[in-house]
Amino acid sequence: MSITENTWRNRGACNGLDPAVFFPDSEENAGEAKAICSECAVRLSCLEHALAVRERDGVWGGLTEKERRRIIRQRRRTA
Ligand code: SF4
Repeated sequence: MSITENTWRNRGACNGLDPAVFFPDSEENAGEAKAICSECAVRLSCLEHALAVRERDGVWGGLTEKERRRIIRQRRRTA
């Protein structure tokens, strides 16, 4: 993990919260995590990290895995 990555992680609104909130059992149950992410100062860094390393599970940067896959597909089309 790079120093930069470490820095944004430490500043995340999820820091110290129950990680289980960010790994809901379905897309429909991702609301609580999304609400926390929406207030997070490092949301974009978090999202770009998840897109870059293809994080498979959980809510990152306010988006679920399905939503992140959609962004990856869109970016591929416009690249
Ligand atoms: S965007 Fe969400 S998952 Fe990412 S650091 Fe912020 S609160 Fe945590």
